[in-house]
Amino acid sequence: MAVSDAGLYIHIPFCAVKCRFCHFATFPGLRGEIPRYLRALSMELAGWKGMALDSVYVGGGTPTLLSEEEFRVLFATVRRVFHLEPGAEITVECEPAGTGREKLQDLRAFGVNRVSLGLQAGQDGLLKKMGRRHTAADFARAFRAAREAGFPNLNVDLIYGLPGQTLADWKETIDFALALGPEHLSAYALDVDERSALGCSGYRPDDDLQAEMYASASQRLESEGYRHYEISNFARAGYECRHNLRYWKNLPVLGAGVSAAGFYGGARWRNTERLSDYLERVETGLSPVAETERLEGRKRAEEDLILSLRLSDGARIDSEAEGFFGQVLSRFIAEGSLQKCGEDRIRMTRSGWLASNVLFRELLSAD
Ligand code: SF4
Repeated sequence: MAVSDAGLYIHIPFCAVKCRFCHFATFPGLRGEIPRYLRALSMELAGWKGMALDSVYVGGGTPTLLSEEEFRVLFATVRRVFHLEPGAEITVECEPAGTGREKLQDLRAFGVNRVSLGLQAGQDGLLKKMGRRHTAADFARAFRAAREAGFPNLNVDLIYGLPGQTLADWKETIDFALALGPEHLSAYALDVDERSALGCSGYRPDDDLQAEMYASASQRLESEGYRHYEISNFARAGYECRHNLRYWKNLPVLGAGVSAAGFYGGARWRNTERLSDYLERVETGLSPVAETERLEGRKRAEEDLILSLRLSDGARIDSEAEGFFGQVLSRFIAEGSLQKCGEDRIRMTRSGWLASNVLFRELLSAD
């Protein structure tokens, strides 16, 4: 493969326990498989030797289940295979309960410059109900330890629409996170997947309450100087997540590990979701890819548009996009969900973001 510019996502599919809302490919209780998994990752990554990266994102799962030696092996592999551009953004998702000062200092020494910590909710009762292993105080300790370890760029993940979560709880959660001074916050509406424990319980969030929570977070965070740069993401100027911007701008991202998705050279792919399948395939020299799709013509235009409408900067509408989606776009502009923001650009209004699923559905079915 020619030297090129991409981001890299590495999935670490191990967790101590499974949170009740989680449907990601993670396997509690299999920590002993980490060394074998890292060897498999090294074999998978070798196929991209020589490529230049400007972002690396290690997510999961719970990457911080890796020991210092395991992180050393992982980052040595990444640096051996790829050329990391100067100033590349290197993020590791950290679980508050398992992230102490030493681990954070190790990560900093390995060149990690961005940490993402999942708070989700600021109330211990809600955290316990969701099966989280940490309390709000554990989170604050991990956050401060990350700052002391010298991380200049910290993200906090939050979820709204949890069972029993009130608007007052949500406002208190935002206040709690703001008091710590993160550079970046992600506020996700709980999307209940039927495969999660919560999905099996039959719980469904209240749409109106979630809309109210969304509006309140957006107003509060913007009033504190955070830029609402993507439907669910807020950042201080210059701290927008470079890696995730690659997804929203439909730029190349390589994905490695169980269930990881990638996009490169006009093709999108996803690896197998089963750990044993992944290990056996890679160890026997087979590809771990379970699905591939070429993005061309209408499909590519559709993805470009839907992804970039997630951003506050909106999307450029060229003649091809106009031809495919012109009628639907004009209708949504007339209804106030979209607005023009330049000669050939449109973006979603705040009410449009709230109902973005409807707009995306209609774009997908436009004649
Ligand atoms: S939410 Fe995070 S920590 Fe919880 S089970 Fe899912 S991946 Fe693991």
